[in-house]
Formats: sequence, C-alpha cells, structure tokens
Amino acid sequence: LCTRKFQPQDTVIDLGDGVIFGRGATVMMAGPCAVESEDQVMRTAEFLRSKFDIKVFRAGAFKPRTSPYTFQGLADEGLNLLAKVRKEFGMKIITEVKDTTHLAAVADVADIIQIGTKAMYNFSLLAMCGQLKQPIVLKRGFMTTIKEFLQAADFILSSGNSKVILCERGIRSFEPQTRFCLDVCSAALIKELSHLPIVLDPSHAMGIAAQVPLVAQSAAALGVDGLLIETHPDPANAKSDKEQALSFEEFGRIVPVLDKICTAV
Ligand code: PEP
Ligand code: MN
Repeated sequence: LCTRKFQPQDTVIDLGDGVIFGRGATVMMAGPCAVESEDQVMRTAEFLRSKFDIKVFRAGAFKPRTSPYTFQGLADEGLNLLAKVRKEFGMKIITEVKDTTHLAAVADVADIIQIGTKAMYNFSLLAMCGQLKQPIVLKRGFMTTIKEFLQAADFILSSGNSKVILCERGIRSFEPQTRFCLDVCSAALIKELSHLPIVLDPSHAMGIAAQVPLVAQSAAALGVDGLLIETHPDPANAKSDKEQALSFEEFGRIVPVLDKICTAV
C-alpha cells in the first residue's frame, strides 16, 4: 500500500495551522527528548513558539530506554504536561508510544503518534495504530532494511490509517564514534519508492550536539517533509539523550540556516 505502484501521487497529511506533510515544505518538529518537568516543557515550548513559530512540539512521556536503571519517562503525568503545552501555546504534540498498554492514553493527547526505532517491530502496536485517526510517525528500526521498514508502514496502512509519515533516524554501522549513521540514501530512495511523507532525525543519528547542526543542514538539503530536532533548556542535566540535545542558543543559530536551505530546495 505504501508504494508508488499502488498510489503514484504523494500522500499529503494536513494537520491544520499550516502543518502540512507531503506538499513540499519541511515541517520543523522540536523539543526535548523526554518530558521531565512542567518548567522544562513550558520553557522549551515558549522558546520554540515565540522565537521561531515552531508549531510541532516533540517530547516523550513513555521512553524506550535501553537500560532499566535510567529515566523511563513521566508516563501519564508527562502526557498531562504535553496537553498543557498544547493548550497554552497552540502547538501540535508529537509523542511516542512504546507498546499497546498505553496507546489509548497517548492517543488522547497526541496530534501525531511516534513509534520509535525499537517499537517498529511491534506488529500488534502497528496494527492498533492503524485503527487511529492521528498521523503516525514511524521510525525506521536501526537494523531494518528499507523493505522491512516499508512493510512495517503497510501494517499501519492495511489496518486502516492512511496517515503514515516515515522517519529515517540512522542505522547501526561498524563505527562507534557516531551514535548511528543517518541513511540519506534510504531517504532518497524512499522518495521514489513510496508516496508517504518522509522526515529525518539528525539528533538521534549523530548523537553529538556539536555536530547535529551540520547533519541537520544536510538533511534539510535533501528536501524532506520534516525534521525532528532535540533541544533542551539545560542539556547538561537532561534526563535522556543529553549528549545530543541542542542548547537554545545552538538551536537558535541553526534555525535560520535550515529555513534558508529548505526554501532553496
Ligand atoms: C526519541 O525520539 O527520543 C527516540 C527515542 O527515538 P528513536 O526511537 O529513534 O531512538
Ligand atoms: Mn531522544
């Protein structure tokens, strides 16, 4: 269902307020990795909305961490804070779902539901997301072939939800000095293979804040439908993914550059 053979024309996903995936513009989605506190999300949302008119706020309440001894997210309390961000700043919320147990709770507050790189193989979750109305950002598994990635998208589409946005967020390579390897080749190929919008996540791919802006520039130059970028009011004390979170100052420097590139391509 996700192939151009099945549907030649681009899928367009319009969330209102000018947030449109698949019509040539690049939607900026930004925010911290995780919801940590009211102060943290409110400060971040205020910064993004008032300074750059960013309309999509990202942050996880259910975090799929690789160690059980690290911060796992604020769960329902985090969702309540995201609802507050939406209400106060009129931003769209993208937040992730780890498994089917809390899907209904996430769907209650999310404008866009994110399925992370590890949950991409949770086929019951994919099918259940197929029964929802919200757009689903499906992240590519970090060891997933393009074919498997597109098949995962079809699990959602074939269950009834046509609003799937693919996200390339880096795959595992032999190189330990970068967190993952942003597969721009897959993004380029997927534009031809699939009619679904595709967005890139330079933050999780690079994993090092100092280099995230350069990778974001190259992602923007590819002409994708959106970018997911992590930013935090106090990166050094972030409870998850602190190495890759841009400070407000770093974020503020890269946004006009990305805008320029996005307008040019
Ligand atoms: C995230 O977006 O914070 C996240 C956990 O992403 P991924 O599933 O790509 O690792
Ligand atoms: Mn993260």
